[in-house]
Amino acid sequence: MNPFEPLTRRVALSSWRAFLPKVASYAGSRNHVQAGHENVSRLGACIRFRTLLEDEIIEDTLNQYTFQVAQKWLQEICWRRYWRAWLETRPHVWRRWRQQVRSSRQALPPQTLARAEAVSAGRSGVACMDKIARELIETGYLHNHSRMWWASFWIHVEQLPWELGADFFFRHLLDADPASNTLSWRWVAGLQTPGKSYLVRLSNIEKYAPGYLRGNETGSERLDDGVVSVRSPLEVANFARSPLVEYPTSLFQATGRRGLWLHTDDFLPEIGPLADLAPASVAAYLSERVYKTIYDLSPQRISSLRAVTQDGLDRAAAHYACPAVVVEAEDPVLGLGAWAKDEGLAEVVAFAPLIGPVHDILSRLKLHFAKLNVRLTLIRRPSDVTAFSFATAGFFPFWEKMSRHLNPPH
Ligand SMILES: Cc1cc2nc3c(=O)[nH]c(=O)nc-3n(C[C@H](O)[C@H](O)[C@H](O)COP(=O)(O)OP(=O)(O)OC[C@H]3O[C@@H](n4cnc5c(N)ncnc54)[C@H](O)[C@@H]3O)c2cc1C
Repeated sequence: MNPFEPLTRRVALSSWRAFLPKVASYAGSRNHVQAGHENVSRLGACIRFRTLLEDEIIEDTLNQYTFQVAQKWLQEICWRRYWRAWLETRPHVWRRWRQQVRSSRQALPPQTLARAEAVSAGRSGVACMDKIARELIETGYLHNHSRMWWASFWIHVEQLPWELGADFFFRHLLDADPASNTLSWRWVAGLQTPGKSYLVRLSNIEKYAPGYLRGNETGSERLDDGVVSVRSPLEVANFARSPLVEYPTSLFQATGRRGLWLHTDDFLPEIGPLADLAPASVAAYLSERVYKTIYDLSPQRISSLRAVTQDGLDRAAAHYACPAVVVEAEDPVLGLGAWAKDEGLAEVVAFAPLIGPVHDILSRLKLHFAKLNVRLTLIRRPSDVTAFSFATAGFFPFWEKMSRHLNPPH
């Protein structure tokens, strides 16, 4: 999949069909970083915004392969839901990260900020790491191994705050996912799994990216095996877990005129529990203020958000045979409120937002809708409820339950 292609459903489906035959070789080839990245799916953005469902991928995979052959692929597909479930029950981790990004920009010494700027612009002086930074800025995509190496370089070699590195990824990655990004950075830093950090090593880069990242040796002595050591984390880990918020998985009878609010956590309403909704109107917000002022997203990120939003609305308009509009608003809460009022809605239905930017507007939106006498009904996909219920400990206990669910004993 070309990272510049808009993340439409059509592109997602054709990319997935093209990748399906490669699932059999995925386990053996996924760690290699090569030009074009054709050994991996590059479906992250489609799955993150749900122009393609994990459920569809799992079903197609198991129709074509045995569980054993596809196990590594399925495990990776399930990682996102594990991370999401983890963050759903620790929303403070997301809030604290956003707060730290803002305060670091104001409080860090100017020379630290200047170094962070240089390293993220691909001017660190370590040629292979600079190539990764430039690839991210130019394409909005990085292979998993490049993400791991570069994050480790930022934290343990450059000794820069992980929060700013994670923010650089969040601003540029077209698949930027609040859970996968924040928690993977924390894992590299040694904050996610106590006692475990991820250290970049030159021999590992040589093994997995010999043609792609080697060639220019400038600065590579800083990555020599044995040279990089763990930078002790400054943060005291806080794993306090709040209960998972429960949402219904199906709709109740409508009591008045209904609208559908589509957002970036799920752009596939025509498949699943909202398929029979019959809304009078559909809306999704786009907010330059949120994207630029709050998150400072790259122009590529903003245009891909616009494309995926428009595609979701176009499909919704065709499926429900009703108007589907973009709400361009400085303040998404006021914009959605004005839409609900203009449409005379008694109820707005949406997929329950996950912890992240959309969830951040939720409490204000609920209050605003209550003032306008509009009920907000949030629905969760049954398969998300099942997956989230398995995520009560680490990934491997989660995967054990998940694999029994996907491949029940006969
Ligand atoms: C520091 C760091 C930051 C990351 N930030 C993000 C992010 O913002 N958004 C994001 O989607 N992923 C993130 N990841 C996870 C992973 O790197 C990407 O999901 C993957 O590289 C996407 O490329 P792909 O679709 O070609 O992957 P493939 O190898 O083809 O995998 C297929 C799918 O499986 C899932 N997946 C694979 N590996 C992982 C993983 N380690 N964690 C979670 N899901 C995974 C993704 O949905 C991916 O699209 C991050 C990893 C690291 C180390």
